Amino acid sequence: MKCSYCGNELRRGAGLMYIFRTGKINYYCSNQCYQYDIVLHRAVKGARKAAAAVAAQVKEGKERKEKK
Ligand SMILES: [Zn+2]
Repeated sequence: MKCSYCGNELRRGAGLMYIFRTGKINYYCSNQCYQYDIVLHRAVKGARKAAAAVAAQVKEGKERKEKK
């Protein structure tokens, strides 16, 4: 099997396995790959959500101004 983040081949029993609530399984050759993929990916997702929320608010504000 291969590391889900960097693609390095890893031996059975080596590295770590992350199981999603959906049942999807990701394998990581090192804790660093796990951190980058799971922890930072989540952070990026959260940042995108926040940015989208801000963008929506800005859009709403513009629409309100246009109505006036
Ligand atoms: Zn890796």
